[in-house]
Amino acid sequence: MDKILIIGCKHTMDDVCIACSRCLVGFNRREGDFVIYKNTDAQLIGLMNCGDCPGASMITRLAQLNLWNSQNGERPTKVHIAPCILHHCPYKDTLIQKIKAKVAVEVIEGTHPYLPENIFA
Ligand code: SF4
Repeated sequence: MDKILIIGCKHTMDDVCIACSRCLVGFNRREGDFVIYKNTDAQLIGLMNCGDCPGASMITRLAQLNLWNSQNGERPTKVHIAPCILHHCPYKDTLIQKIKAKVAVEVIEGTHPYLPENIFA
């Protein structure tokens, strides 16, 4: 069973992107980049922010997650990078490169598909 960790932008999660609801709904419906889990019992085990600009604490935060979950044994088997990082973070290339180098599980760039195209149209 896949265990999913979503990583997003500290300045965006549950702030301008209220409640991180689009990632959660996208996962529940297996839409967008979550379609790969269609008809599986994959579980979401965390929504983690990058730790603030320029993302220097990201790897430490991942290690903390591992420590925090040591008693329940839950570990991510897939990491998804949220659109708030992919489309807006000036440090995203370094951030994603560091995550990929360290987590030892597949890192997928993308989550939900509910991006507004024409805000005032
Ligand atoms: S490093 Fe990128 S993802 Fe993290 S808070 Fe800054 S802009 Fe957001």
